[in-house]
Amino acid sequence: MKRTEKKVDLNAHLSDIRTELSREGEKNVVSICLKNVSGKEITSILFRAKGYDYFGDVIKVEEKDSFFIEISALHLKTGEYLQDKQIEIAGDIRKIELEEERVVFSDGGVEERKEPQEKIYYVNCFEKDSYKDKPELDELLEQDERFCCYPVENETGWICACAYLNRKENQSCVNCGYTKKEVFWKCSEKAVKDSRKIKQLAFDKHLQQIARIKKRQETKEIIKYLFEVFLVLLGIILALWLYICFR
Ligand SMILES: [Zn+2]
Repeated sequence: MKRTEKKVDLNAHLSDIRTELSREGEKNVVSICLKNVSGKEITSILFRAKGYDYFGDVIKVEEKDSFFIEISALHLKTGEYLQDKQIEIAGDIRKIELEEERVVFSDGGVEERKEPQEKIYYVNCFEKDSYKDKPELDELLEQDERFCCYPVENETGWICACAYLNRKENQSCVNCGYTKKEVFWKCSEKAVKDSRKIKQLAFDKHLQQIARIKKRQETKEIIKYLFEVFLVLLGIILALWLYICFR
């Protein structure tokens, strides 16, 4: 286990926002990747964008320093990534910065970007290359490949098995989508240890069964061998008797 420092913005709707510019023939295109960490399904995102030229100077659009980019018709569930959404932009832009303006949810709700509320927290994460951590980590990974620690509650909220810090009022993890109830039920230290114990017992039982089958087979083979020896001896005795009687 390794004590790992993590940082989260509790007011974020989106995280891991990445952009990449490319040319598609005559078009200048920005590819946008991001993750929904809002806790709800997002249907539309509005970004305020700033474009820069080769020299790093802001490119004005309609005499303003920024312009809007809207991504709509989405069904992006919490914890899901939007991959390489391509949007055409002005041809002379060589660098772009995006800032979330607002998001629309599938329940009709609209939320503006709030001031970031960043929190630094620490999580005891299981390590993939640790021999000692492997059994417990394997149990967690069996539930979900993103899980790496035991869920815990703290003064801010609760840390999911995916190591994301959620607000107290969140009933589901905004990063992986699992409900708090399910995560604490399946991934607590006690649940993981109980599950390991049950699997160990089943494995021991299986080994005992194999040993029993093997022993039964060995006994059968010994009986067969003794019976064959008996038949050979009987044959010899019969042959001797016949020899003595009819010589
Ligand atoms: Zn989670």
